[in-house]
Amino acid sequence: PKNSEGLKKALLNSEFKPEKWMLPDLTDNPISQLNLAIVGHVDSGKSTLSGRLLHLFGRISQKEFHRNEKEAKQQGKGSFAYAWALDESVEERERGITMTVGVAYFSTKRYKVVLLDSPGHRDFVPNMISGATQADAAILVIDASMGSFEAGIDVNGGQTREHAQLIRSFGVDQIIIAVNKMDVVGYSKDRFETIKKQLGTFLRSCGFKDSSVLWIPISTIENQNLVSDPSDERLSWSRGLCLIDAIDSLQPPPRELSKPLVMPICDVIKATSQGQVSACGKLETGALRSGYKVLLMPSREIATVRSLERDSEACKVARAGDNVTVSLQGIEGNRVTAGGVLCHPDFPIAVANHLELKILVLDTPTPILIGSQLECHIHHAKEAARVVKIVALLDPKTGNVSKKSPRILLAKQNAIVEVILQEMICVEDYSSCRALGRVSLRSSGRTVALGVVSRVIVANEFGC
Ligand code: GDP
Repeated sequence: PKNSEGLKKALLNSEFKPEKWMLPDLTDNPISQLNLAIVGHVDSGKSTLSGRLLHLFGRISQKEFHRNEKEAKQQGKGSFAYAWALDESVEERERGITMTVGVAYFSTKRYKVVLLDSPGHRDFVPNMISGATQADAAILVIDASMGSFEAGIDVNGGQTREHAQLIRSFGVDQIIIAVNKMDVVGYSKDRFETIKKQLGTFLRSCGFKDSSVLWIPISTIENQNLVSDPSDERLSWSRGLCLIDAIDSLQPPPRELSKPLVMPICDVIKATSQGQVSACGKLETGALRSGYKVLLMPSREIATVRSLERDSEACKVARAGDNVTVSLQGIEGNRVTAGGVLCHPDFPIAVANHLELKILVLDTPTPILIGSQLECHIHHAKEAARVVKIVALLDPKTGNVSKKSPRILLAKQNAIVEVILQEMICVEDYSSCRALGRVSLRSSGRTVALGVVSRVIVANEFGC
């Protein structure tokens, strides 16, 4: 196949036959990356838990931790010491809530975990969504204390509910339920079972399978059942699977090796003196090795891989899931740009400027109308976009069409819209390639809507 339909078919049906060198041997880099979102009602303990995990396994130094702790104490917020490990801006610290999707890293026996922390504050649900679209699995944190769990699953405004529905709608199907603050309820097994029963029923209604839900009682503050069996006798009924074991028991995200190469370029390095150019990015599918020919889209030029670097070390082969720097030869430096995509010469990616999107409008004061001018971000590409059609409003709970052709979109509404971009970009629909089908729409430096590409309407068939 020499057109983007070929790539789409190969992405969906694995018709692509990988060559032998693409497949990993057993000695090769067995640790996978796992993108893990942390979600849950405000104050359930998400930041404290993220901070703990980072402190125990992660890339935050003792010194940095003590500095956070000291600063927190000075402001009379001692318990936020861990939370601060993730909160970045002073403004967030003063308000004591996490506003951005904090990204942090730690390693377990099995995984390099990328933690996508998300705020529980009502207004910040949108940030949670951008975490959820990237997640392979999620930890849903529950506050076990009397009244708090109940508030979280309340039909009116319970974020436990809302978050569980949202992550499921973005295709996350593995979930760990961390029933936190068990210290507050005296580590009561009855309380844990009540929560499990009620929430379990709800999770089933969202489409989670019982076998993909893991229930772990913990106390983040008292460090119970996080990394080893509980030391507190009152939690002795829950031995055998602590939180970190639960994380290690998750299924690794599929490393899509038996698919053609797709690598969105996030950055370009030019060494002008030697006229060398390198593209940096993550391989979403397929594999690469030195000497391999790649097709650079959207410029449609062929280049050869001179060398590869992973984790700042030279390597011969890179595969789906790896973050790499690819040094290219046989191409003009100025043809390689962030927002472009490296692909297999026989499987060019679709290039299009007319897209159908499924979006959620965020808390924005300005409504979205037909004709609205926005900035469209898809993988690392950024392009001016005009809304040309509002196809339908969607019911947030069922996803069904609730109104056809509305004239206006307001905050918190779900909808299907069509946009036309000023220039062509590399894009695939979300169902065939998640990484190339996530979209955010911005205006005056603010994100106004988030969603996915539901259809590429006019794909320009380069490479035919
Ligand atoms: P977030 O809004 O979900 O990020 O919640 P935070 O991590 O900011 O925690 C909210 C409050 O709950 C803070 O005062 C924490 O100290 C407290 N907290 C977190 N985990 C526990 C726990 O296991 N036990 C108790 N008693 N308090 C906790």
